[in-house]
Amino acid sequence: MQIFKIAVILAALTTPWMVRADGDHGASDTLTAAFVDNTSSSDYFSDLVVTTTVDSLFCVLVTFTTLDNVTPSTTQTLFNLSGKGQTTLLSLGVTDAQANSSYGYSYQYRHGHSGTAHNADHKYRLPYSTSESYAIGQEYFGSFSHQDEHALDWNTPEGTTLRAARGGTVIDLKEDSNEGGVEEKHKDMANYVTIGHDDGSQATYVHLQLNGALVELGNSVTVGQAIGLSGNTGYSTGPHLHFKVSQLKSPADFASVPTLFVDENGTVLNLNADGNITSLVEGVSYGGSADSNFSVLAQSIRSGTVLDGSNKWRTGSWFGTFYDQDQSWIFHPQMGWLFPVDGEDSSVWFYHSTRGWAWTKSTSFPWLYFNSTKGWKYFLAELGFYDENGGEWESIDP
Ligand SMILES: [Zn+2]
Repeated sequence: MQIFKIAVILAALTTPWMVRADGDHGASDTLTAAFVDNTSSSDYFSDLVVTTTVDSLFCVLVTFTTLDNVTPSTTQTLFNLSGKGQTTLLSLGVTDAQANSSYGYSYQYRHGHSGTAHNADHKYRLPYSTSESYAIGQEYFGSFSHQDEHALDWNTPEGTTLRAARGGTVIDLKEDSNEGGVEEKHKDMANYVTIGHDDGSQATYVHLQLNGALVELGNSVTVGQAIGLSGNTGYSTGPHLHFKVSQLKSPADFASVPTLFVDENGTVLNLNADGNITSLVEGVSYGGSADSNFSVLAQSIRSGTVLDGSNKWRTGSWFGTFYDQDQSWIFHPQMGWLFPVDGEDSSVWFYHSTRGWAWTKSTSFPWLYFNSTKGWKYFLAELGFYDENGGEWESIDP
């Protein structure tokens, strides 16, 4: 599985600018970056433009190897991108127009969005139905092929329906292989589905059968959703599922992490007396816990948001930033503690400690409907709620 790409491009320029760039990275690349002349700006002579060719999430790290008399428009070097198309990451300007200048850069990318830390409290489901039970064939750091990683193998027979252990976005997949074995060539022949999570982690489900992906690139996936059919493709001695979660901090910092698993009742399976996450145990069978009817509390308020896995603040485009411990209550800095419950059509009801139930959705917010007064109020962090009936601003806590 080769999804990690590095391209090194050196460009030199003198005044007037002569850019020498190598823009050819092969047809299979799903992300390419190149500098293009900027003709619309007097401050910047060139833009770094990224082109993505598939509907996925991407993380790009730009490294300048030379910046001689050249100033970038931003100090940011790590970028998260979504979907297909072109994005300008940054621009370059000449510092002193009278002097010679040159620049050189490289970039790396990976599928998925980066995050600062894995949410170690997230409870993963075992990736198959509650009516089924499979033994662990190889545990974390197992001696056959898991020496360096927090990976688990379940002995799932050919054709077993695999279900998402955690919801997210499909960021990568392969399903065109029909060959498995233990020769060197088989290492690139595994079919797989990779799902990116809201904290920058990603789960990969490997060795699927031919055409065994049940999802498409860019799909949103809920926990328990059927995502693939188990198989025996790639480096494998028999049918099984290889499952691994890795944290993407940057394309240069990507490593597997241990995760909590829960059974169908939500009871944690792999925490030791010291509070550390342990491996599921080789040779032990575990009942599945990822049925499709497993519901996530208040999915609507959390979908499309980014979770900072280390401090539990979640940020999204419509409800702003709020504290989320993955439990029933969330904390909004201006509104206080709220108990969210999913409504229909991706709407959400909130129980507020002093104001009772309020309803909103992304296309209505910052208007909220309050059940106690049967009316709408407009929310503004600095002023509180504007009541359309009373015609005045009210403090958040009456
Ligand atoms: Zn494995």
